[in-house]
Amino acid sequence: MEFQLKAELKCSGSVSEGVSSSEIEEFMKHCNIELLKKGAPPGCGAEIVRWNVRGEKIGLEIVSDRFVRAHDALLRLKNEFGKFLGRHRIGIRSMEIEDYEIAMDWEEGLAIKKLPFVREIKQEEGRLKLFLAVNEFLLEKRIPDRIIRLLEDKREAASWKGKKEHWELLFESKKKPFYFDKDPTEEMIRLGWIRHAAGRGQWIYGPQLTKIFRAFEHIILDNLLEPLGYEEMIFPKFVPWDVWKRSGHAKGIYPEAYYVCTPKTRDPEFWEEVMDYYKVTNEVPLDMIMERIEPVGGMCYAQCPPFWIFLLGKTIPDEILPITVFDRSGTSHRYESGGLHGIERLDEFHRVEIVWIGKKEQVIEHAKQLQEGYRRIFDEFLEIEWREAWVTPWFMAQEGKAGLAELKEVGTIDYEAVLPYSGKWLEFQNVSVNGDKYPKGFSVKLQSGEELWSGCSGVGLERWAAVLLAQKSLDPDKWSAKLRSAVGELPEVFRFL
Ligand code: ATP
Ligand code: ZN
Ligand code: MG
Repeated sequence: MEFQLKAELKCSGSVSEGVSSSEIEEFMKHCNIELLKKGAPPGCGAEIVRWNVRGEKIGLEIVSDRFVRAHDALLRLKNEFGKFLGRHRIGIRSMEIEDYEIAMDWEEGLAIKKLPFVREIKQEEGRLKLFLAVNEFLLEKRIPDRIIRLLEDKREAASWKGKKEHWELLFESKKKPFYFDKDPTEEMIRLGWIRHAAGRGQWIYGPQLTKIFRAFEHIILDNLLEPLGYEEMIFPKFVPWDVWKRSGHAKGIYPEAYYVCTPKTRDPEFWEEVMDYYKVTNEVPLDMIMERIEPVGGMCYAQCPPFWIFLLGKTIPDEILPITVFDRSGTSHRYESGGLHGIERLDEFHRVEIVWIGKKEQVIEHAKQLQEGYRRIFDEFLEIEWREAWVTPWFMAQEGKAGLAELKEVGTIDYEAVLPYSGKWLEFQNVSVNGDKYPKGFSVKLQSGEELWSGCSGVGLERWAAVLLAQKSLDPDKWSAKLRSAVGELPEVFRFL
């Protein structure tokens, strides 16, 4: 990697008059030997290759390798030069970055079209050249380093895209009898159990399916969460940007988010034009609304991130571990685009989210207890046929860190069941060990100073129903006695003419 930077310093007085050129030469030579090589292996580092002094202005040209990157060299130099000029009663007023070019080897196939703070990109013959548009403030914010890091992430992500997503079978249940070969969503529509709502991927669940959802929750509560000491909480369902910055979702959530906006002001006058337009056209004027609102975040996507604000910046005593809490207080929203299908893939869905926090061994051990509990429930209550697979955790895939998952301490187990009507496998829940990701992101510490870990498990109620009904039919007589008694009578409320 090569860096070439041209900058100009403006001083408070004439340097050509105030300082002799031999003194400046001496200074630059000294910097090239000491200051710009500090921390780099022998023979490496940065170098001032040209400089010129014109009155109050000093032009500088610095080249470097990746060890002391040219922008670091420039910041070091500015500091040192300031001290040097100070002895001649001259100060540095400002600094302008005229050109900053970074070149590196790059695989031919991976096109880079646009990057933040880069005004031009040239890509040819296995080389990538970036022409940055930066100023001193952006150098101090380490923007060039972050651009390089971003490129490394893109490279890693591309290498994963090519391969199949990491998926490894861990467990397969016994074969179970299937009593249905149709799409349960179609059947529920036919029977009037559900109806598509006004929004995309959104359904209204009638009394029968709602009762089944509630029974699922109770089965989980009575047979898994209560014995393991869980307590219920209510997590927020609107997620401001700050939460997603800390959880890492801000790096990649955009194509799937449901965005939330607030009015720029609640002054009715500010909105009068919109109201009037609607009144005379019966059309909601989207363009006019867009000008008057501000995106402040999104709707619940992964359910647990907004919970972590409860622990933000806190130190917790070791003896209260493991912490075990769950939330079932609202909807999750994802823009699933063309992937929508029945109640299997929705834009609005319902989940029980289970969160556990502890020391590393506790968190790993607790994940095993959950896995055992789930297996019992699937065997005894749902009587479904399912399998468990080790997959690349979402955040590692999103952050281009999938390689780390190979240790198998941090990672996700997906639970999948076959849908007899299509022969396809559907993920209906997961169990994830997230390592120290959340405690780190939300600055949560342990009194003893030991590393804090966490895990979460998302149980999709629609997915459980899709799997159960697809394999066992909508007829409760075909269900296990345990499930039948957990659900009770299916209510009949509506009839249509
Ligand atoms: P998929 O691969 O099917 O899109 P995912 O990997 O995106 O699922 P996770 O992010 O792991 O799903 O979410 C955890 C659980 O939330 C899933 O196991 C599933 O039960 C539920 N879930 C996720 N997306 C949807 C959706 N669009 N509709 C219904 N349930 C969903
Ligand atoms: Zn979670
Ligand atoms: Mg998904």
